[in-house]
Amino acid sequence: MSDVQSGSRRLLGRLKLALEEPAEGQERLDRITRLIAAEIGTPVCSIYLFRDSDTLELCATEGLKPESVHQTRMRLGEGLVGRVALSAKPINTGNAPAEPGFRYMPETGEEIYSAFLGVPIQRLGERMGVLVVQSKDRTAYSEDDVYAIEVVAMVLAEMAELGAFVGEGAAMAAPHKHPVMLRGNCGQDGAAEGNVLLHEPRVVVTNPFSDDAEAELSRLRTAVDQLRVSVDEMLMGVEGGDKDQREVLEAYRMFANSKGWLRRMEADINRGLSAEAAVEKEQTAARSRMEQVPDPYLRERLHDLDDLSNRLLRLLTGQGTDTGAEMPQDPVLVARNIGPGELLAYGRALRGIVLEEGSVGSHAAVIARALAIPLVINAERITTEALNGDHILVDGDQGIVHLRPEETVASAFRDKMAMATKAQERYASIRRVPATTVYGPTIRLDMNAGLMADLPSLRSSGAEGVGLFRTELQFLVRTKFPRRSELAALYSRVLDAANGKRVVFRTLDIGSDKVLPYMKPQDEPNPALGWRAIRVGLDKPGVLRMQLQALIRAARGRPLTIMFPFVAQADEFHTAKKYLLGELERERRFGHPLPRTLEIGAMLETPSLAFASKQFFESADFISVGGNDLKQFFFAADRENERVRRRYDTLNVSFLTFLEWIVMRCKETRTPLSFCGEDAGRPVEALCFAAMGFRTLSMRPASIGPVKHLLRRSNLAELREVIDEARASGQQSVRPAVMDWLHQQG
Ligand code: PEP
Ligand code: MG
Repeated sequence: MSDVQSGSRRLLGRLKLALEEPAEGQERLDRITRLIAAEIGTPVCSIYLFRDSDTLELCATEGLKPESVHQTRMRLGEGLVGRVALSAKPINTGNAPAEPGFRYMPETGEEIYSAFLGVPIQRLGERMGVLVVQSKDRTAYSEDDVYAIEVVAMVLAEMAELGAFVGEGAAMAAPHKHPVMLRGNCGQDGAAEGNVLLHEPRVVVTNPFSDDAEAELSRLRTAVDQLRVSVDEMLMGVEGGDKDQREVLEAYRMFANSKGWLRRMEADINRGLSAEAAVEKEQTAARSRMEQVPDPYLRERLHDLDDLSNRLLRLLTGQGTDTGAEMPQDPVLVARNIGPGELLAYGRALRGIVLEEGSVGSHAAVIARALAIPLVINAERITTEALNGDHILVDGDQGIVHLRPEETVASAFRDKMAMATKAQERYASIRRVPATTVYGPTIRLDMNAGLMADLPSLRSSGAEGVGLFRTELQFLVRTKFPRRSELAALYSRVLDAANGKRVVFRTLDIGSDKVLPYMKPQDEPNPALGWRAIRVGLDKPGVLRMQLQALIRAARGRPLTIMFPFVAQADEFHTAKKYLLGELERERRFGHPLPRTLEIGAMLETPSLAFASKQFFESADFISVGGNDLKQFFFAADRENERVRRRYDTLNVSFLTFLEWIVMRCKETRTPLSFCGEDAGRPVEALCFAAMGFRTLSMRPASIGPVKHLLRRSNLAELREVIDEARASGQQSVRPAVMDWLHQQG
């Protein structure tokens, strides 16, 4: 064993003894700084810990003025200590005052020390503080010193996680005990109160020290061997199958066989860490690199490495993903990310979902929306902050999460939920009455669906039918293409459940944000403007025809309604319709029962279709405006991009005037028209669409009550006057005028 290794083993050995002795938090911290200073042979050793998310506090020191302890504070990024904390990278210099951002803290008496080495105290991306050594030498610390301090910092982070520094005088709050508020983005609205259910519970490393390096090395090698075998087995499982899955597994295999990875972990064990701690040290390094790498490909690879480390930790600790932890009451699922299939397996038992990553268009979000479960995405740090069973409040409307909330916050939140429940009760009382406006027309309210599980909402919401059945959800949640017979059976069950109510089946709308796991993803510069929806269907008619056959067979003599998505010009619709009629003819030849009636419609999701010929409008049995896509193309604002997606108001005069044009085109050709984008489920927007002439709206089941409630109390002719006046007066959006009018109505 080299001198360096034995030096750091000795340091860790002493640290272990120091931590084992009973002591309060502050006393422990003091002892540790004394011990490190003595072992490294440096006059100053200090520990800075986070007081709150952006302030660090000097919590213990050997060598600086004792009166500065708990007095000296700096903000994240301020001075060298703040910079180490912010960048999560060490700073090692022989001339600290010459470093950018240097700030001298007079109360500490540090002006006589020139050399500075600061390393982050962090665990798996969770930053806890900074460990600093200083000396009068004008040279930077040696690599061995940097290494030793890094290892100690890692052990401190482990011990902090276990609560070793909580107590008398120490600034450190017990981890995972204090309330935390996280701001993410809204994935699906609604509010939920419940208890955390971690999708992948954290691995707890209880002993970061090794007593016997040989034994730890052998444990590590055995676990790595097991890991390699399991990766090889996974690879064999996808042999010849999905190329992307194979690529990810190849990357896993490369890392699992990487000599550098193993060597670094072995070196850490030789320096006194346990096998688990050595793996976690590598994982922590990968996570902090992950945060700093802008290249998405490299980030993905670091993600792979992170995932692999997790697997290795589970092999070493014997802690599986299934810890046997019981599903808490009112479970709120917390995950870094989750696939649609896994999410469906949890199903409606979940009260809410919080994801550290994700996007509004991710499959998980699509499923959460279909199941009407409040979802917050991009909630940074949630998987490091939350523990199984923690009390949690999810505000899907605002994209906010309260973890372990104070009682005052929880009770305000409950008030908000109670108000929403009261409103729901009010809506239940109008479930069976039509959405007839004051002196005016009745608006048909349909619901959007995509899963079998949505169908019971037909009754409970009072929807008149399913105005949009997104068939791609069934494709998204599978690992391979469904067979025709499976689809036919499913569509048949949908029609059974609808019990005679009209269901508008939209053919497969994939591409753009909806990528099937088993289809080769297209490397397109602008997927939303790319090969998607009907474009895929027409270029690969095999899948489209198979789906059309399944739909015809499912109908078995019942009425059938089919709608083609994303039609940008008439011939796309005509060709798709030809395929449908061809399949109908084929079924007739086979002697299969044909649908009693057949309606064939087009979705209007690109502005171009609004200007198609009169003949096109006449050829469609109905038109449904897909407002989500239509709006994104009208304003050239990506519906997936948080920066721009809310920038343009749906009630903008230009957009409303455009909708009015579509209403007029359908009126002159007597083509039934509906609106099925998300905006139809927002009461004020829905009201304005009705005032502009829409007579059918299709929305999430939960929106039917609120929309109906408002429609039944409104006079559309009066509202139309308000809208027209606002348009004539040069307003950009009619919203302020509409809101004023609504307030006047009480
Ligand atoms: C739309 O674009 O408005 C629509 C209903 O389709 P999707 O949201 O599935 O793209
Ligand atoms: Mg669309």
